Amino acid sequence: MGNLEIKNKIIELLFPEKLPSIESIEGKYPARTLDPGAMVTRIAPSPTGFMHLGTVYTALINARLAHQSQGVFFVRIEDTDKKREVAGAIKVVTDALDHYHLNADEGEGKDGVETGAYGPYKQSDRAEIYQAYVKKMLEDGLAYPCFATSEELDEMRQQQEAENIRPGYYGQWAVWRDKSGEEILEVLENKKPFVIRFKSNGDWNTKIKIKDLLLGERELSENDQDIVILKSEGLPTYHMAHVIDDHLMGTTHVIRGNEWFASLSLHVQLFAAMNWSAPSFGHIFPIQKMEGASKRKLSKRKDPEANVEYYDEHGYPVDGIIEYLLNLANSNFEDWRKANPDMDNREFALSIKKLANSSGPLFDFEKLHNICKDKISKYSADKVYSETLVWAEKHDQDLFALLNDNSDYVKRILDIERGNALKPRKDVAKWSDVRTELEYFFDHKFKLSKSEALELLGGLEESVIKNIVGSFKTSFDENDDKDAWFAKIKLVAEANGFALNTKDYKANPENFQGSVADVAKIFRVLLCGKVQTPDLHSIIQVMGKDRVFKRLNII
Ligand code: GLU
Repeated sequence: MGNLEIKNKIIELLFPEKLPSIESIEGKYPARTLDPGAMVTRIAPSPTGFMHLGTVYTALINARLAHQSQGVFFVRIEDTDKKREVAGAIKVVTDALDHYHLNADEGEGKDGVETGAYGPYKQSDRAEIYQAYVKKMLEDGLAYPCFATSEELDEMRQQQEAENIRPGYYGQWAVWRDKSGEEILEVLENKKPFVIRFKSNGDWNTKIKIKDLLLGERELSENDQDIVILKSEGLPTYHMAHVIDDHLMGTTHVIRGNEWFASLSLHVQLFAAMNWSAPSFGHIFPIQKMEGASKRKLSKRKDPEANVEYYDEHGYPVDGIIEYLLNLANSNFEDWRKANPDMDNREFALSIKKLANSSGPLFDFEKLHNICKDKISKYSADKVYSETLVWAEKHDQDLFALLNDNSDYVKRILDIERGNALKPRKDVAKWSDVRTELEYFFDHKFKLSKSEALELLGGLEESVIKNIVGSFKTSFDENDDKDAWFAKIKLVAEANGFALNTKDYKANPENFQGSVADVAKIFRVLLCGKVQTPDLHSIIQVMGKDRVFKRLNII
């Protein structure tokens, strides 16, 4: 047999099944017709059953960059690592994207149905496509089969380690790279399992300059590793698969986690070897958090808040999370929000340049809570009600029943200091907080003993409290508006030796029992069981006279 014949025979034995031709594949993926400047981006999660907050962050950035440039954002499921596969894991991804309104223009949706003309968008459905390209690489001398067993590879690694040599399958270590056709044929005929490796022409000592959209121009060593491109079960590795996919799917910008930056010279090399123009690359800094005095990556293992489920379980509002992430991505988002309080956050122009400045965005609950409180403070009572209802149905049956059985009363409670309020209440950061804000309005939930009340009112004499409550009841008129009501509270305060304002009280504390704020506190405690409450007049209106008087009677 001549050399060419041997080569063809090898390829036939490696790929006995008929594969689609490269022409037919390329024909199915025509160049996209988009306006110049339109970005085609993607999120390409591996379905592990765990959705990291960082994946939502990356998806958000990609979705915004595509949509603000009239481009396309698609989702590709990178499930070529069958060992890591978990049942239902794709649904975890598609549900999360749907929950955060990051629905892709193409790819699998929440309903499990794929849309888009550049699919299939699940890598395990694309095996033939990868195989066809890898076969072509064999034909073109860009790849070769490798029969090294895992024991042999382990041994090689140990030797490299022992001799302090750079690890990997390259140069003299790439033992199958230069085997003769005859040798390869022989092992193939013995049906030895194999992988296909890339035949790298790179030199590790040669430096190349690569431009990263976030990191700027960087110098990296050329790749000289003959990496595996097709695994023994016939599926590609990430490196090869995403190069083929991003080429066919017309990705213009690969914006991904910076753990991939180290492989960038390999990826650029693969694009060049295939004669394809590479997309632009941008590597995002991971979300970090403080641990003691140092920063570290938000960790799947250590931090419950790394899992997006955490936010669903606690009922964080979706737009609160999104705005928090926008804030991490572009620090000028906060000023934009202040200048445009009512604008849809999709109007904010996300900038790659500013993204580059936010190196290692720091996760911080306080900021997240403030943003969420701010968002929720702008919601109508009806919206808070319906969002909490949806959340409670899934996560808190008791709260669900409370909301469902008392919708009018609950909406009136939620309307306190909301809607047109001058200073809207900011006590709810997440739907799970609503329980605390509601419960004390319900007699079967409200438990306050006389001694607890006295303790909360620390220092005030019972007889004074009694007198105040007595005068309040006598003058109470349910129809009083806030001014009339407060005028009466002031009268009650004055009659019982309390200063009419804090300033007077502070100037001469010995002259007074306290200030009018302490009088209000008596009602806050007796009616709500706490010293800080939303607007007292509104609370009294919503509770109604009977409930109010009943609660005041404990003293
Ligand atoms: N499947 C890769 C990951 O989950 C995606 C990297 C990329 O976006 O290209 O990290």
